[in-house]
Amino acid sequence: MTQLFAESRQVVFRAVGSVGVETQPVPTPGDDDTLVRIALVGICATDIHLLAGHIGDPFPLVPGHEFVGEVAAIGASAAETRGLRVGDHVAVEMLLPCRSCARCREGRYNLCERDDPQNGLHRGRQYGVNIPRTVEPGLWGGYADYLYAPSEAIIHPLPADLPWERAVLTEPLAVAHRAIARGRVAPGEIVAVIGPGPVGMLIAAAARTAGAGRVIVIGTRPSRLEFARRFGADAVIDSRAEPDLAAAVRAASGGVLPDVVIEIAGVAEAQRDAVRIVRRGGRVVLAGACGAQVPVTFFADEDLLTREPDVLPSFLSAGGYEPAIAMLSRGEYPFDDMITHRFGLDAVRDAFALVESRADGVIKAVLDPESTTAKEPHA
Ligand SMILES: [Zn+2]
Ligand SMILES: [Zn+2]
Repeated sequence: MTQLFAESRQVVFRAVGSVGVETQPVPTPGDDDTLVRIALVGICATDIHLLAGHIGDPFPLVPGHEFVGEVAAIGASAAETRGLRVGDHVAVEMLLPCRSCARCREGRYNLCERDDPQNGLHRGRQYGVNIPRTVEPGLWGGYADYLYAPSEAIIHPLPADLPWERAVLTEPLAVAHRAIARGRVAPGEIVAVIGPGPVGMLIAAAARTAGAGRVIVIGTRPSRLEFARRFGADAVIDSRAEPDLAAAVRAASGGVLPDVVIEIAGVAEAQRDAVRIVRRGGRVVLAGACGAQVPVTFFADEDLLTREPDVLPSFLSAGGYEPAIAMLSRGEYPFDDMITHRFGLDAVRDAFALVESRADGVIKAVLDPESTTAKEPHA
């Protein structure tokens, strides 16, 4: 195989609060391995938490777990087993399972128990989150030109005609699908979603696709709530405007409480609310990350014992990529409108500032390695 690429530009989180663009040599992939050229990568709140030091100490780290791209080079054996060729469009799952621990073997590879303390790794590997750049070949994050996918990586082919701006939602939509699966959403059920961020809207759409009879989205920002109506929400509730949230939810659900409540706000108050607004014996999915050391308080008897909700945490995206890709391919929702801003790698600080400020109508910002400057939001 000829060597096509000398080096990859990468955004590197060097330490807490320290970020820059550096280059990394790109190896020719081994026989079982694949090299992916990143087309687009989504900016996630997780990335901002990582830089702030809220999620461990994986530095130096190349962030980015919401990436899609095309096969740039592939080893002979990988090409044969994966059925992939150079130029194919792919989504690589953010979870890099060991495929041999008990959790991986039972399919819960989001709970992979592999430890690799020499490389600073504990409890599994996640692209862009916990694999330091010092682990060879250092191409473990999506804020870059290239990404390395060894034999354990889970690579999904994408339809060649799926626009990158829609395909880049594969990972967040996979998170949404896992939450729906954890909640065992069944046809006709009433589903409430707390947290109208990008994943919350995608959960609303995925609930609708799963056959939910009524979908209610709860949040605190009226503009986001209105946008959620375009992703399958029948009713929206501004929780700040409602002194009695359960009563408002009951009114929006036709006099009953929801069968399933899915929390993706990532705040303790929303998790507590989720348990309180589900019907007796219903299912509560807690999918939001609250950050380290955040206690959530429930009343043992009033909220839990006497109401018997199934409380089901949903962690990351395991099992969600295939339904997500199918749903994006069908294109039933205005997915492309969710991508409001696009930046080059050099503009990562501007991109983070925009996402943190929530200014300019930002919903989802992405990095485009081929872009050199920030672009205007598209119409
Ligand atoms: Zn994410
Ligand atoms: Zn494992």
